[in-house]
Amino acid sequence: MSSTLHVQWTVTPLIAPRPWLTCGRCGGIKPFQSSGKARLNANGKRLDARLIYKCTDCDASWNRPLFERRNVREIDAGLLQALQANDRQRIEAIAFDIEGLRRSATRIEEFPEAHVTKRVLAGNPAAFERARIALSVSVPCALRLDRLLVVELGVSRTRIQELHAAERLRLSPVGERALRRPVRDGMAVDLDVDSTDRLAGLSTGVSVQPG
Ligand SMILES: [Zn+2]
Repeated sequence: MSSTLHVQWTVTPLIAPRPWLTCGRCGGIKPFQSSGKARLNANGKRLDARLIYKCTDCDASWNRPLFERRNVREIDAGLLQALQANDRQRIEAIAFDIEGLRRSATRIEEFPEAHVTKRVLAGNPAAFERARIALSVSVPCALRLDRLLVVELGVSRTRIQELHAAERLRLSPVGERALRRPVRDGMAVDLDVDSTDRLAGLSTGVSVQPG
């Protein structure tokens, strides 16, 4: 009897992207990281908001514009409150928003370190012949798909490539180079399971992907 195990892996990046900018104090192009603090400046009824970054070498500040000259009434009340209070979660979400960061910086360093949590959606983890891994990646992460599979499944990169070539590992959406690209939300990996492969990490465990 054939059976499929459906699992979901949720991948969360651990390190926010860092802009590389010319540092006026220590000179040269340096990586900057979020200080976790926002700054609001009022000009009549209009507000500027910035997220403060610090040079990782000398601690000089760089202000990333979040919005400028915006009428107070047009600003989401929850966002305004979060910025005023330096709400950790909301500020962190802004720091991980790489698309937003791209509006202010051209050179950005991304990190593959990620937290991975797994849960069984359907099927029996003790007895299955096929597995479908659904990826949930709500925040962009630079972790490559093949690296995620190598670490989490405990098999070699060569083995991953062999399985892919033999169509025993299939990707959806299908992509010629998808294994070597960063993980994306909504991707799925289908595996025909072979007893010679250890797949200990398929359905259980919480792990941290090293950089
Ligand atoms: Zn500096």
